Amino acid sequence: MSERIGFIGLGRMGRPMASNLQRKGFQLTVFDVVEPPMDVLARLGAATAASIAEVAEASDLVITMLPGSPEVEAVVLGADGVLARGRSGMLIMDMSTVDPATTDLIAARAADAGASVVDAPVGRLASHADAGESLFMVGAAPADFERVRPLLEAMGTTIHHCGAVGTGIRTKLVNNFLAIVSCQMNAEALALASRFGLDLDKTLDVVHGTTATNGQLKVNFATKVLSGDVEPGFTIDLAHKDLSLIVDAANAAKVPLPIAAVARESLSLARTTAYHAKDFSALLDHWCERAGIDKPRF
Ligand code: NAD
Repeated sequence: MSERIGFIGLGRMGRPMASNLQRKGFQLTVFDVVEPPMDVLARLGAATAASIAEVAEASDLVITMLPGSPEVEAVVLGADGVLARGRSGMLIMDMSTVDPATTDLIAARAADAGASVVDAPVGRLASHADAGESLFMVGAAPADFERVRPLLEAMGTTIHHCGAVGTGIRTKLVNNFLAIVSCQMNAEALALASRFGLDLDKTLDVVHGTTATNGQLKVNFATKVLSGDVEPGFTIDLAHKDLSLIVDAANAAKVPLPIAAVARESLSLARTTAYHAKDFSALLDHWCERAGIDKPRF
């Protein structure tokens, strides 16, 4: 008998990921605290639940795609949460970006309850999730990895089994450190080019032709802020959350990350503005506004 799949958290990422699963033949029971994305999934044939407990009771395998650690801990460990209301043998696959300590905690509690946890955070952009072209970094026991593999194949194109539980989220933090700091550097560099009065296309031609370029500049800046689209995507609020996780996890492991700490405080500033809910490439617009510089556009 095929596994019954629950999906909790139908936001910018969870909605397309769940939609791809449902379209590709998995029968989902879904839940979010807001109604509209539940309607989208219901129209695709998913069952909608009225609570987390209802998802847990209806599922053998529950996927969570939530904002961060507080939400994941509440949903998984709460009194009426997934572990309390699920059955022994259940697998919880958390795909959110969280503190590794959260992953370790829910894995330990799950083991006590006869359940298991896989951490499978998501790489690439929201547009890739829409197209079913995400990359996954997976921490899992070998048997659990085989159990989740068909689901990951339905949501993405690239799957990396990084090692035991907890290695996926730790890999994700290393990845997002580089991605988010690149955004801050790109914002500063393009503000400088604008103030210098340089031609944007010519400047990018040069940078893309040397080792100075980076994926955020090539893909995200090109398709988002430089094309005049600052709707998320991945919000500045979430990027700030990730950099905070990165700085805290590094501090806990006694690894100094001065560049990450500075970039985090730059995002702390951006978060106090209307840009907080815009795409993280909009750091460019935020930076230009603060310095009175024309916003570069194609
Ligand atoms: P989002 O804020 O758009 O979605 C989160 C969803 O969780 C919302 O729909 C919200 O209503 C729901 N939610 C919150 N608390 C809940 C609860 N207690 N029960 C049920 N639902 C609840 O965020 P997102 O952009 O989809 O990101 C989700 C996760 O994926 C984050 O950890 C983020 O860092 C990570 N991520 C995002 C991107 C991206 O490009 N947006 C890419 C990779 C990873």
